[in-house]
Amino acid sequence: MRTTFITILLLLITISLTAVNIEIRGTSEKHNVPEIQIDGINYISIKDLGPALKCISKQERLDQRLYLHFFGETFIFLEGSSYYSYKIDSYNMHFPLQRKEANYYLPTVFLTEHLPLHFEQEAGYKRGVLSIKQPVDHSVQVIVLDPGHGGKDPGAVGKALKIKEKDVNLAVALKLKTLLEKELGVKVLMTRPDDRFVSLQDRTRFANENKANLFISIHANSSTNISPRGAETYYLATAMTSDARAVEALENKVVELYEGGASARSKYDGLDFILSDLSQTEHLQSSNELASSVQQNLIAGCQAYDRGVKQANFYVLKGAFMPSILIELGFLSNPDEERLLVNDDYQQRLARTIFEGLKRFKYRYDRIRNT
Ligand SMILES: [Zn+2]
Repeated sequence: MRTTFITILLLLITISLTAVNIEIRGTSEKHNVPEIQIDGINYISIKDLGPALKCISKQERLDQRLYLHFFGETFIFLEGSSYYSYKIDSYNMHFPLQRKEANYYLPTVFLTEHLPLHFEQEAGYKRGVLSIKQPVDHSVQVIVLDPGHGGKDPGAVGKALKIKEKDVNLAVALKLKTLLEKELGVKVLMTRPDDRFVSLQDRTRFANENKANLFISIHANSSTNISPRGAETYYLATAMTSDARAVEALENKVVELYEGGASARSKYDGLDFILSDLSQTEHLQSSNELASSVQQNLIAGCQAYDRGVKQANFYVLKGAFMPSILIELGFLSNPDEERLLVNDDYQQRLARTIFEGLKRFKYRYDRIRNT
């Protein structure tokens, strides 16, 4: 009886003073993450996890979700729920995510049991110590979105409703930005946040200066004929087909029209061998995969006609020192697609499907780059 009492007393003291020790493998780095008790269960504060695990967390107060990004993967928790989602499955921690004032708390079992389960190579828990692999972070963290045209340059103009391409591009890019920030935890920068003119050169320079990991240019297509329709995604290379060449000429026209004519054009052509060779050859394979991932999701999710992944020589993609693509959402010259492109729900669907494509690419890319 007496022994039991002492044991319980000792147990209580130990529990109230416990902490999870985290060691970063191959370094002398150690972290002590203090535990607190909520309803008799051990919890750790999300605030303490960031520096210890080298993970990013993002709280979404409105829908009471907590996103945790760790080793290139995303965990989604819901306040008050013991379930979280990871990849395509749900897992049960048996104790709910709790919130106390402005701070979220995760049951300690997530660290000691769940993380080692999901990351056999990267995390292990033994005798009160969680050891994790030193994360070398090459993952996609900064994405530049480039809504094509803007300001004095309207881009293509719809035949039926006179919808301007620049407005469609911006609307879809802004919706995509929200999704990327909220659900993927990446930093998103826009080459233009509103209706203004930005030269093609300044767009890639902006991406380079901000050390972007991906460059996504968003456009809508146009033809002299009303029948062409569908979506296509380009990556930089010398244009292959005559169709691709036509789109290339259309998107590059801004240089002649708004950036000082033939002399400006030669400035970009001069970049050909110096910059595009240096920058894009290295990323050709990644750009191709990125384009395929986006195109597949776009077509599946929007039921748009599939014009495929193509290569072309876009000025706006030249000189971008990162995987880069240019998406043509649809044809403003086709009256049916023009009506879709200006529709808020359809724009949201475009943004969602491009997001899914980027997410899938990021997961694969991060894993390759981080192992
Ligand atoms: Zn365009």
